[in-house]
Amino acid sequence: MKLHLNKLVLALLVLGGAMSPAVFAQDAASTGVIFENVRIFDGTVDRLSGPSNVLTVGNVIKAISGAPIPDPPGVTVTRIQGGGRTLMPGLIDGHWHTMLAAPSMAELMQGDLGYLTLLADTEARDTLMRGFTTVRDMGGPSFALKRAIDEGLVVGPRIYPSGAMITITGGHGDFRSPHELPRSLGAPLTIEEELNFSQLADSPDEVRMRTREQLLLGASQIKLTAGGGVASPHSPLDVSTFTEEELRAAVQAAGNWGTYVGVHAYTPEAIQRSIAAGVKVIEHGHLMDEASARLIAEKGVWLSFQPFVDDGFTPPLPPSSVARLRQVWSGTERTVELAKKYKIKMAWGTDILFSAANATRQGALLALMQKWFSPAEVLAMATGTNGELLQLSGPRNPYPGRLGVVKEGALADLLLVDGNPLADITLVADPGKNFLVIMKDGKVYKNSVR
Ligand SMILES: [Zn+2]
Repeated sequence: MKLHLNKLVLALLVLGGAMSPAVFAQDAASTGVIFENVRIFDGTVDRLSGPSNVLTVGNVIKAISGAPIPDPPGVTVTRIQGGGRTLMPGLIDGHWHTMLAAPSMAELMQGDLGYLTLLADTEARDTLMRGFTTVRDMGGPSFALKRAIDEGLVVGPRIYPSGAMITITGGHGDFRSPHELPRSLGAPLTIEEELNFSQLADSPDEVRMRTREQLLLGASQIKLTAGGGVASPHSPLDVSTFTEEELRAAVQAAGNWGTYVGVHAYTPEAIQRSIAAGVKVIEHGHLMDEASARLIAEKGVWLSFQPFVDDGFTPPLPPSSVARLRQVWSGTERTVELAKKYKIKMAWGTDILFSAANATRQGALLALMQKWFSPAEVLAMATGTNGELLQLSGPRNPYPGRLGVVKEGALADLLLVDGNPLADITLVADPGKNFLVIMKDGKVYKNSVR
């Protein structure tokens, strides 16, 4: 039986080698879309282009021209009348949690991965329909959903998965109850570990192993929690968690795979220790001081920033967490000031957790950035700049090619916007109304152009 199975697999491999790639290549190359009469925000500059036409073939932007573009030979083309509207890159959320955005904390703790994945599937569709064609997933078991999306089984954004967030005993991401302690050698895994939402590691060796496990699963980058957090029960904001040696173990293991570590860190101590260990991206950073801002800039480290402010939408969290959230909010203004002063490389993300209702505000949290930045700066952050951040994954980048820009040769993730978002950034807060076309990887998922 086993032999037969092997023969079958072999036969499929041979057949596949002979037929499929060519067939797929022809399929992909033989369909295209031409956006006529659009004005382009290309993801980098602060103005729109003159009236232009844009051709995509397969999953790539093939041509951008002021002159009409004829149908390329051998390509079946759909034409979309832009009517002078804005064509821009698909949005990128630099700090998203595919598996944690929609469920409540109680649903998460029930530990029914089947249900959680189905919930995340629905949320992934909604995410794409909000114009987010790519997310950088900073914690949670998103590998299966990513695979199903990439295979076309379900609809959702491109996912750059971190896999489990790696933490210490008592750190951000350790949700255990007192009765689960003390942990003894050979004890069963916690439910969060079993489902790969978070993994506990208390030595450089354990960190190395947990990091390598996520890389085995297909992580495009690694996430550690270097300090206390808002949503978890045991870690006050001021604490630093991993030692420098532990952080370095993760950095080395990720580096051996050609990729990098991003850390959850609010405080100067957590930020500085992480940078000393070779961490490339600081997630959050809302309680940084002048010295840590200077260090971030000097070392060319990225700040992955979220607009955490009191805008009347407190996430559903217990009172102790809300108190910590207020502490974070109090540092947001200063962090933006410092980031501007030291010209820190700043990515943008939302980090929405535990609420499908809050998740609908993903675009609104982008528009909120106009508190500190011009609309063009805001949009560039969520497109061209975030696209640059994704390149840090190097050979572990699951979607090689340029994302976040409208340029010839870039991957075809595009939005047609009814209006000019450089004049009115709030357009992105109502994607159902204002995003008329949503294209990901050359495929049109929404087209409401009449
Ligand atoms: Zn997060």
